[in-house]
Amino acid sequence: MKISVVGCGYLGAVHAACMAELGHDVLGIDVDETKVAALSAGRAPFYEPGFEELLTRVLGTGRLRFTTAPGDDLADVDLHFIAVGTPQSGTGAADLSYVDAAITTLLAGAAPGSVVVGKSTVPVGTATQLADRLAERDIALVWNPEFLREGFAVADTLHPDRIVYGVPADPTDAQEAQAALDAVYRDLLEEGIPRIVTDYPTAELVKTAANSFLATKISFINAMAHLCDTAGADVTVLADAIGHDPRIGRRFLQAGVGFGGGCLPKDIRALQASADLHGAVHLADLLGRVDSINREQRDRIVELARTHVGGDLSGRAITILGAAFKPLSDDVRDSPALDVASRLADLGAEVTVCDPQALPVVARSHPHLTLEDDPRAALKGAELVLLLTEWDQFVALDPAEAATGVAERVIIDGRNALDPVAWREAGWTYAGVGR
Ligand code: NAD
Repeated sequence: MKISVVGCGYLGAVHAACMAELGHDVLGIDVDETKVAALSAGRAPFYEPGFEELLTRVLGTGRLRFTTAPGDDLADVDLHFIAVGTPQSGTGAADLSYVDAAITTLLAGAAPGSVVVGKSTVPVGTATQLADRLAERDIALVWNPEFLREGFAVADTLHPDRIVYGVPADPTDAQEAQAALDAVYRDLLEEGIPRIVTDYPTAELVKTAANSFLATKISFINAMAHLCDTAGADVTVLADAIGHDPRIGRRFLQAGVGFGGGCLPKDIRALQASADLHGAVHLADLLGRVDSINREQRDRIVELARTHVGGDLSGRAITILGAAFKPLSDDVRDSPALDVASRLADLGAEVTVCDPQALPVVARSHPHLTLEDDPRAALKGAELVLLLTEWDQFVALDPAEAATGVAERVIIDGRNALDPVAWREAGWTYAGVGR
């Protein structure tokens, strides 16, 4: 099929390449000329394992190209994906201006009878409004939320856990739109991946509910960690023990500095704003609490750092291991690691940040921080070390070897990823979160 993908960021670029991998003829559209130039040259504008290899391969087939100016090419396209950003606005709700602009582009160029498929994460009620606009040109809309995880984006796009379609209320329109999207995802559906067909509001809410549930799990265990700290319990053992219950599960029960990134924080705030708007007060309260617990985790780590250097951070040499919001990504949007690093620097510490992938991005956004990509060099002279992104290469550090370069053997494990016994045996003062 002929496909366009409007918005080629973390989601859209991977989606475009994966659709070409499935055999479709894909036009990636983005307003960012630098991004389009990089993608067209086979260079990934961000770090995502396996993506650049896939991009190069599918560009070579001639089935994928990128442009900032689709012009008449849109008229030949059967199905248009929308993958533009929906960042947080000043009120906490999602900013839909990029989605609106994408719809305007499509209204100007897409052919009547084509189908638009929304993948961006939007507040409940958005699809109904957009469908009305598109109906003026006889273009149908499906809302097809995306669940990919950065770091696993290629595999998650080609082999998702589930596929959700929010379809129009009219049964004939729904059938036609569904058939078009089924044709795009034929290989995935043949693999037996569950497909849930529902209405627009449910499809929109599935996405924000999923992210809010994951965020709630993280904030729950972080709140438990606080009690464990004061009661003398170990939250990691507690999480292992409750995680054996299949109704609970161990994943997302890792206490630490909390969640960040381009999705979870903004998605819980957007759902909170929707809940407020619709009078769902308990949901709004719950999400507000999930958010405040998460923000307080960062305060706690900053306070812990202050305590461990004796109360005054000014001039103290601190090494932060990690800048990306999670391993296997260079995404630093609302990254807890980078937030803590900046706050310690603002409080006068001499901060060195180490990360295997995110440093080029950090150099642009935080030029005041000292950056070092080699962990051994980053640790040299440190009076305090904080592990804030659990990259494998940091978790695998040998505590005895790490001890050789530092000025003081003090480590705060902000991800509870290290073995406290091994680090203490090597002479380190070790502090985790709730253990
Ligand atoms: P992003 O900021 O990386 O990418 C958005 C892209 O859209 C940018 O390249 C931007 O230049 C482009 N853009 C903006 N306006 C445009 C326009 N009018 N026409 C064409 N291009 C335009 O954001 P992202 O992380 O890819 O997220 C996109 C959406 O997908 C968001 O709603 C997000 O919540 C959702 N989502 C993201 C992920 C993820 O892991 N990143 C996962 C699931 C869902």
